Amino acid sequence: MAEAKWVDQADVVLVGAGIMSATLAALLRELQPDMSIRVIERLEGVALESSLATNNAGTGHAANCELNYTPEQGDGSVETSKAFKINESFEISLQFWSHLVGKGLLPQPGAFLSPVPHLSFVWGEDSVRFLRTRHAALQAHPMFVDMRYSEDPAQLREWMPLVMEGRDPKQAMAATRVARGTDVDFGRLAIQLFAGLGQGADFGILANHHVQDLVREADGRWRVVVRDQVGGQTREIKAKFVFLGAGGGALPLLLKSGIPEGCGYGGFPVSGQWLICTNPEVIARHHAKVYGKASVGAPPMSVPHLDTRMVDGKPALLFGPYAGFTTKFLKQGSFLDLPLSLRPHNLYPMMAAGWQNLDLTRYLIGQVLQSREARLETLRTFVPTARMEDWELEIAGQRVQIIKKDPVHGGKLEFGTEVVSAADGSLAALLGASPGASTAVATMLEMLLKCFPERAKSEAWQRTIQQMVPSFGTNLVKDADLLARVRARNSEMLGLKAE
Ligand SMILES: Cc1cc2nc3c(=O)[nH]c(=O)nc-3n(C[C@H](O)[C@H](O)[C@H](O)COP(=O)(O)OP(=O)(O)OC[C@H]3O[C@@H](n4cnc5c(N)ncnc54)[C@H](O)[C@@H]3O)c2cc1C
Repeated sequence: MAEAKWVDQADVVLVGAGIMSATLAALLRELQPDMSIRVIERLEGVALESSLATNNAGTGHAANCELNYTPEQGDGSVETSKAFKINESFEISLQFWSHLVGKGLLPQPGAFLSPVPHLSFVWGEDSVRFLRTRHAALQAHPMFVDMRYSEDPAQLREWMPLVMEGRDPKQAMAATRVARGTDVDFGRLAIQLFAGLGQGADFGILANHHVQDLVREADGRWRVVVRDQVGGQTREIKAKFVFLGAGGGALPLLLKSGIPEGCGYGGFPVSGQWLICTNPEVIARHHAKVYGKASVGAPPMSVPHLDTRMVDGKPALLFGPYAGFTTKFLKQGSFLDLPLSLRPHNLYPMMAAGWQNLDLTRYLIGQVLQSREARLETLRTFVPTARMEDWELEIAGQRVQIIKKDPVHGGKLEFGTEVVSAADGSLAALLGASPGASTAVATMLEMLLKCFPERAKSEAWQRTIQQMVPSFGTNLVKDADLLARVRARNSEMLGLKAE
């Protein structure tokens, strides 16, 4: 191995060049323009893992259509608190993007965000009852006042002709529709965010460099040990603050950092596959994101949906995801990722969570082994007239779900995202994947306030936060006037439609 040498020092090192690091870098550039920032990425370019458009579903998650955010309760009522939180978080992302578009730091929004109606679609008496109850609970609030509901086949045909073609109109069916939905190309957005940072600032992206280790120095800084994937040299960068925005690679790095707050964390990888439509005539007949209900035993992120997408500026149609299991933590990772993440402190939580989720593991393996015909059958629940020759199977991105200690069960599996940070604020890691990229701005902003508490209190930061995200620190769920003002500006700046 080549001898290590100092090549760099920076205030901030961001590991991974996906949407999370891009968002964090853009926020820091606004809040603290004098900070030096380095991004280290193991692949040859930016946003090639989960943030790449075809590796994720591109839904601007606002809880308009995702039924797993509003679970049905034992008494038949619907729990809505998560839906409000996610909708508010997405409005925070929209405010920041509006701010950057206004300043010319992001291009015209059409380059990364497209208005696409969000629909939930269900069939069968019980599911129709659930959707009706969900609609009544959400639509009563200003946040979801524009959500429309119908059981009328003619109306459903108008909303989603491809989904209704060939369907028995006598079957009990219902849908809700929110016109102000979005499809976001998070890969393009990350590229544009990074591009807006490069000019004139002390900022750099080191591609083809793999972070191998993180060592705490006596002066409190982090020594980030990096291997050049092309030349083979080992280099080091010293930083005051390190963000592990490495997607599925964040957990192994958190464990390597040795911070006590990372103790007991493990990961459960879930892979995915899409059917991607190759027939332009079929693609042109659908304009919506249509989310259904997860089948029994399926993890919440495996809810099937039929999505109009804009991928690299071109219309596309994707169906899925079909979940799957592999031991890789990254799509371009290693099968050793899972076994190498085992430590004495996370072994018991991992085993306990694994034991409690045997059904999930069985379900995922079953999904991997599905035949072409079985996949077509699932697709036909959404597109009854689908022909296999119009669709191609593609591997989606990898998600690593969080496993953590649990005082009662020993360990538990979680499906959300979580920021784990050192007590002194010098290092933070983003674990988990859902609701993911859509809530990047709120998640990164909250992390900054936690890791830079003194700066966060300063007048300069407070003023800048107000300019970037006017609703931050207030409650959009409770303040209908502010919600209306924020939405009007976001819609105008980003070209979103309401009904
Ligand atoms: C199938 C699927 C569907 C999804 N659908 C949606 C959706 O509809 N809406 C939504 O909002 N979110 C969705 N998500 C989640 C979303 O994709 C992620 O939350 C988001 O992309 C995560 O961004 P990131 O920057 O943290 O990770 P990534 O984009 O994965 O970036 C991490 C980067 O770190 C690099 N890296 C890893 N290890 C190292 C290392 N040791 N050294 C250097 N670099 C390293 C990787 O190469 C990668 O480029 C979906 C995810 C999947 C998998």
